[in-house]
Amino acid sequence: MAFAHIRQCISGLFRGSPVEHAPVLEVITYSNERHMSSSISRRDFLARSGSCAAHLALAAAAMPLLSRLAWARTPLGAVVAREPFGNLERVADGVWALVSTPLGGDRTTLSNGGIIAGRNVVLAIEGFNQPQGAQWMAAKAKELTGRWPTHVALTHYHSDHANGVAGYLTGGEHPTVRSTARTRDLVIARNLPADPARTAAVNGAELLSPTDVMTLDLGGRSVRVVPRAGHTDSDVSLELDDPSIVFCGDLFWNAMVPNFVDAVPTKLSASVQALRRSRETIYVPGHGALGRAPEFNRYVAMLGEIERAARQAYVDGTSAADAGARFELPASLGEWTLFSKGFYPRAFEAWFRELKGT
Ligand SMILES: [Zn+2]
Repeated sequence: MAFAHIRQCISGLFRGSPVEHAPVLEVITYSNERHMSSSISRRDFLARSGSCAAHLALAAAAMPLLSRLAWARTPLGAVVAREPFGNLERVADGVWALVSTPLGGDRTTLSNGGIIAGRNVVLAIEGFNQPQGAQWMAAKAKELTGRWPTHVALTHYHSDHANGVAGYLTGGEHPTVRSTARTRDLVIARNLPADPARTAAVNGAELLSPTDVMTLDLGGRSVRVVPRAGHTDSDVSLELDDPSIVFCGDLFWNAMVPNFVDAVPTKLSASVQALRRSRETIYVPGHGALGRAPEFNRYVAMLGEIERAARQAYVDGTSAADAGARFELPASLGEWTLFSKGFYPRAFEAWFRELKGT
């Protein structure tokens, strides 16, 4: 399948500016053979623009070609549940990962997440985009393990990972929510409009240290919750040693160029390097299919290419906007889903902010 020439642009972002005229976001995909367009209301876009994956929802509505690139790979594990919004894969005994597939416009979940079960504790990872996503994950945990989640961990504040967290706290069930204080504060401050149930859920969170690794004993199995940073001010990864499985949050996007909207690039690079393991490992990305070493290493190389070009542009005195607009990844790195033309300039701007020390 030749997708080498897929290019997309999101143009006319706020064409026809008065909101009352129901302006549309026009999404156009160019490929070597196909040209598609679709319209999505501006209001809908704005409502989700705080999400690092708002573009996923936009792209998914209009770009079925991308699905073949980014999501429709052979699952690493056995698929135990298929939904319009994602597939739940059994990764190992007592470990499942949801790979969200926001292709048909169902936004119940947009990010990946998972379940890790021990004898005493069932840990759910991520709050998902909507409470229905968390409820679904909790019901699956009950079906697969016999227990509703007893704990929930949020990897970072972005709305597609956190906004549905209150969905776990229903029907007399009150799992312990775990997040860093920074993540809790950012969920409340930035994920608007506010939702009282979400606010109550994160305000009731037991706090994770921003500096120290915490080990959760699930009963016959331990999970390390590792504070990291770089995608946002406060990220955490959830890590198992036997078998070796890393839930990376949005520090890893498989075959997709990540959103640098909140990124501090040097911290992002350091965190990504720290996630990498020398032994056989399954990496659960924040978005995209599950990966092993080749996919993770390719992601590291992609970030390195952006860094190299951004540093060169900074030295040359080229603007981040111009350099980012001209940037292309080398063909040797294979195919990447780029959700918006603005992603490279945004990444370059993040690098320039760091290089200027601002
Ligand atoms: Zn994110």
